[in-house]
Amino acid sequence: MSANPVVGIVGAGLMGHGIAQRFLSAGFTVNLYDPSEDALIEAKQQIPVIFNLLGQTDNSGDRLTCFTTLQPAVEDASLVIEAGPENIDVKRQIFSDLCQYTSKDCILATNTSAIPIANIAEEQVKPERIVGAHFWNPPHLVDLVEVIQSRFTDAQVVEETIAIFNRAGLKAVHVKKDIPGFIGNRLQHAMKREAIALVSNGVCDADTIDEVVKHGFGKRLAVLGPLEQSDMVGLDLTLSILSTIYPDLDNSQVPQSLLQDKVAEGKTGMKTGEGFKRWTKASAQQLKQRVQEHLIRAQLQKHSEN
Ligand code: NAD
Repeated sequence: MSANPVVGIVGAGLMGHGIAQRFLSAGFTVNLYDPSEDALIEAKQQIPVIFNLLGQTDNSGDRLTCFTTLQPAVEDASLVIEAGPENIDVKRQIFSDLCQYTSKDCILATNTSAIPIANIAEEQVKPERIVGAHFWNPPHLVDLVEVIQSRFTDAQVVEETIAIFNRAGLKAVHVKKDIPGFIGNRLQHAMKREAIALVSNGVCDADTIDEVVKHGFGKRLAVLGPLEQSDMVGLDLTLSILSTIYPDLDNSQVPQSLLQDKVAEGKTGMKTGEGFKRWTKASAQQLKQRVQEHLIRAQLQKHSEN
């Protein structure tokens, strides 16, 4: 990979423009492609807003170029990150075009949330160059990227992808198997399964679940992972606790009826005013704002420590 690689980003929506800002902020040249002119205009307006939010000077200058046709956006790229719609047919078509338009050494990464990487890579002409790169929302404030190796992906492609992401100030980790939910979402949703079961079984209400997480173990999660915590308290104690509670933990194989019924009744959360809790426009906006401010503070603290 060249010393100053060009990063092509396919899709300039919610994820694409945040990913673009990440790479611009780290000094990379970014080519941003979207078939929608409006999406590109919006992205060009939002990128300086992110620099400003983070207290950074926008020094991207002429390192950002926007394109409404794919080939010129990716033909000189060393890495392309696809952040287009979450639709297997659309992604297969994008990767078929990318295989045709990019150089033989270009890394082709997909930011799919849930589609197995092998399902996108199979039947492409360069499946070994295709890797998963699961960013978290918002990508300009959350450092983690899960780099997923499919059964087709060349090990060196994984290594180079991780190296370039880390150079961009991200925290890249290697997911060695192409499994649904990768790592982060499996952990997050394992907790959600138990949370919904506790409410369904009348142990507590939804507010109590969130209080327990936010005021309890959630307080330390940003500095203490679950396995570090196990080592800290001792694996003997961990074994004893798990032996008692594993048989009692929820093991539903389909989403519980509490969730299914709410969705059937149109109670889908903040967007309809009710989900597990009731929301007004103002209370929903307040919470979104608190999350953003929290993530910005964490990011600013990280920069001040570096
Ligand atoms: P989005 O709808 O905000 O953006 C998608 C963009 O793709 C739009 O700007 C659209 O114009 C563009 N597009 C449409 N057709 C295209 C095509 N053929 N080629 C290229 N671009 C095309 O979606 P998003 O939330 O940014 O999600 C993008 C990808 O990232 C999805 O695969 C999604 O599952 C994944 N992802 C999303 C999140 C999240 O929280 N939103 C988190 C992680 C991963």
